[in-house]
Amino acid sequence: TGASRGIGRQIAISMAKEGAVVIVNYNGSAAKAEDVVKEITEAGGQAEAVQCNVSDYSAAEVFLKDIISRYKRIDILVNNAGITKDGLLARMSEAQFDAVASVNFKGVFNMCRHVSGVMMRQKHGRIINISSVAGLYGNPGQFNYSATKAGVVGMTLSAAKELGPRNITVNAVAPGFIETPMTAVLTETQREAALATVPLGRYGKPEEVAAAVAFLASDDAAYISGQVIVVDGAMSM
Ligand code: NAD
Repeated sequence: TGASRGIGRQIAISMAKEGAVVIVNYNGSAAKAEDVVKEITEAGGQAEAVQCNVSDYSAAEVFLKDIISRYKRIDILVNNAGITKDGLLARMSEAQFDAVASVNFKGVFNMCRHVSGVMMRQKHGRIINISSVAGLYGNPGQFNYSATKAGVVGMTLSAAKELGPRNITVNAVAPGFIETPMTAVLTETQREAALATVPLGRYGKPEEVAAAVAFLASDDAAYISGQVIVVDGAMSM
């Protein structure tokens, strides 16, 4: 989900290289999603761009039913779509809180809810949720975002226990500071402050998050479930 740019775009490209048929989900950016599809197909892969606002429960159901009816199965779900609306708690509006919760938290529920049936019938599935180190350790100015990303970990753990008996693994990847359009909006001062906390001394690349996702989706990770893999250059330890 949210695969038209940033980490989601790279996950789509990396998964296609591994042989996955990729549904490049987007909400508003059809042209960018089509660019991702073009990049995949030109490299010999198979992909299709499909619009869906993940925060809409009914739309998520229609989106997944359409894919199941045309492709007959869904092996891997990567819940990547996410937004930020940062601000200090004392000044945070209800709208700021609700907007972030509706995409980052409810969106993951919507997609997991509607994919669980087909994965259970298949007796096979991989769900990989993109959390954040902010959800594990908190971050000033990100009360709403951290809450949703901690919620993603909770959903990951419960789903791993519930769906495990049907051979479905559920894991999360928690990135640190990754170079994407989401972090490009930070000021130079904010970027320098963030970088100073990273022992590896650099920002992460979308490819480095996508590699963890691809591993969790691979046969090599068949016995790994209910885990959170942190990809943050040792920033949070
Ligand atoms: P980004 O803003 O570049 O990309 C997010 C994508 O999600 C966009 O394509 C956007 O259109 C899509 N999206 C937003 N709302 C949507 C909706 N309702 N339905 C469908 N798609 C929607 O951000 P990114 O940096 O690539 O982040 C990807 C994920 O990684 C997010 O969940 C984010 O919280 C997480 N993350 C990012 C960082 C980082 O440093 N960049 C760190 C930790 C976690």
